[in-house]
Amino acid sequence: MYVQPSNLRRANERRIVRLLFGGRSKSRAQLARGTGLSAVTVGKVVDDLISAGILEEIHESQVSLPGSGPIMGRPPRLVGLSRKPELVAIEITVEVTRVSLVSLAGHLPELPSVRFQTSEGLEGFKEALERVRTSWRGTGVAAVLVSVPGVYNEESGEVLYSPNLHWTEGFGLMEVVRAVWDVPVFGIQEIRALALGHLVRGTSGDNYFLVEFGDGVGGAFVTQGRLQTAPLPLKGELGHTQVLGNERVCGCGGVGCLETLASRPGLLQTFAMEHGIARPSWSDLVQCLNSGDAAIPDWLARTVDAAGIVIAGAINILGANHVVLTGDLPRVHPGVTALLGQCINHSALWGKFGEVHCEPAPRRRLQGLIYMAIDRFFLPETDWRDGNGSGRTRESARG
Ligand SMILES: [Zn+2]
Repeated sequence: MYVQPSNLRRANERRIVRLLFGGRSKSRAQLARGTGLSAVTVGKVVDDLISAGILEEIHESQVSLPGSGPIMGRPPRLVGLSRKPELVAIEITVEVTRVSLVSLAGHLPELPSVRFQTSEGLEGFKEALERVRTSWRGTGVAAVLVSVPGVYNEESGEVLYSPNLHWTEGFGLMEVVRAVWDVPVFGIQEIRALALGHLVRGTSGDNYFLVEFGDGVGGAFVTQGRLQTAPLPLKGELGHTQVLGNERVCGCGGVGCLETLASRPGLLQTFAMEHGIARPSWSDLVQCLNSGDAAIPDWLARTVDAAGIVIAGAINILGANHVVLTGDLPRVHPGVTALLGQCINHSALWGKFGEVHCEPAPRRRLQGLIYMAIDRFFLPETDWRDGNGSGRTRESARG
């Protein structure tokens, strides 16, 4: 593919931003080394990003750079992501919604996140958001970022299907958010937000399949440092793959879906049946699984095996050999990640002659939302303001 000069410039901007992500600050020389770009190019790109309000100079009286030894003369000037533009980040899950005020540099510690029980309808959701906005009065918000469960069309803003939160379906959810803040609103499917947050952490390389075990089960695929998209606004929905012999009814209307076994509610249901407890809590389950000899009980091993077979099927199709596991299942018992890795390697073709690597990771959804803001609002590949994406630059769009 022919790379246009403007695309190349945008790619360089994004490489620099990625190195500074997560509140890191670096000198221009460090950025040149980290990106492999020339000092002149880095200087130009950094100046441009500072004038666009995306980066800022970091003023510190005492600057110490790791491994650089004593600094003679003037300390190097550091740059970092700007702490100015304020962004509202909304993370919707089945149980709890968390709303945070963040900047590109990360969470704003002076304003703690607000959590509320996820409403049962649009009206209640709007009222809860309005209460949050009122409590933050006086802050200028540049954009709102939303992580959305279910099948979500990121282009149109429509929730097509939400097995566990049907009231969010349609365009209403994003319309409500826009009505409360009256600024640009960007939504991303929740597991894609996790995959993006893990990507900018930079510890697993640029190619992996992230599988989340939470209220539901789903996956998102990253190749060559980019979140993959598909012809349909539905990617990596492996939680709704049928497991043979499983007769549980799923929120999607199907029967036997993996997520009825491997999600948090699914694990609790099996645990309750196995132990004859009416309504066990999550801590009951974790405590029981980690007491005594701590071997993985048969019921959990069967669930892990089912998850492994479904993930192996996805891996055969996607061609990934690195799986990142987030959420409850990998944390429920210290042996789960290794067992799941064995099951995946047993079932995936790659496991016959290579190795599929499995690693647990914390959820970094908020980081994913902030990176989405950079990706789609501050440094978009094709400008979102332009409708047909015919390539207006950031400068002309803002001017
Ligand atoms: Zn289902």
